Amino acid sequence: MRRYLQADHQAIAANSRQTPGAWILAAMYDGRMTGQSVARMIRNGTMGAYRPVGAFDAYEAMHDGGSSVWVRYVAGLDVVPMPDTVTVRVPDYGTQRGYEGVCIRTVDISSRCRRCGGPRGPIRSHTFVKDGTRLVCDAWENDCGHQDTYAFVLAEARVLAERVQSRRPKSPKTPLIRGVEGGRYAAAVDLIAELFREKPTLRALAVLPHIEAHGHMDAVQVIRYFVSDSPTGTYTSARAAALHLIELDEEACRAAEAEQTEWQDGPIGCGREATHTTGDNQ
Ligand SMILES: [Zn+2]
Repeated sequence: MRRYLQADHQAIAANSRQTPGAWILAAMYDGRMTGQSVARMIRNGTMGAYRPVGAFDAYEAMHDGGSSVWVRYVAGLDVVPMPDTVTVRVPDYGTQRGYEGVCIRTVDISSRCRRCGGPRGPIRSHTFVKDGTRLVCDAWENDCGHQDTYAFVLAEARVLAERVQSRRPKSPKTPLIRGVEGGRYAAAVDLIAELFREKPTLRALAVLPHIEAHGHMDAVQVIRYFVSDSPTGTYTSARAAALHLIELDEEACRAAEAEQTEWQDGPIGCGREATHTTGDNQ
């Protein structure tokens, strides 16, 4: 924080006004969070030196020494906002020993120099010939003077791609549908689940012949009623039908459990045994 207080923002802003549109290194900090908050305060005009709001653009980037803040004066200029990444074509010679081929990879890298945070580029096309083949990649020199190498850039692109991949939200998985254990319709549910796993848009009526073929006539009957009652009618999905069968089985299970509980809590000899005997006295 000490370095933040030391930076002469009046002088930085005045310098920046002299070179409209050009990024200049404004200040450096030990911690990236400090740099980030300073860049934010420059952009939103919290710091008086950078008013009026919108007259200056700023960003924070990684620096060998910690964090750097870059500023440009943009008042009245039609400037394109600086993207965080740029797409470049890079020759890849591979890492295998004895491999002499080359391919051109198109990769995303930071738009800023990895040593000081200054803007990379400008990027231009570069044509070269390898084994009699004409290839085009991108080339650039950084104004800050730090030179990139293609090997370094490829490594950076790999790290960046992995980070992007890990941030990407996982595709929401449809919960697996499975018949209720011991349920009356369990086998029919498993069969339907298998069918619509192949074709998720499958309709309930389309699965009926399959269920019928497997002899689950009671499930066929239930699905027919379910479809005719459903507001979506013949468009009712196989998945909805399977869920309905699961619901019926779960309901039956709950009822059976409740019955069992009643019997356990009741007086001995006057409970379930007496009313549910399937023996000779029925
Ligand atoms: Zn640099």
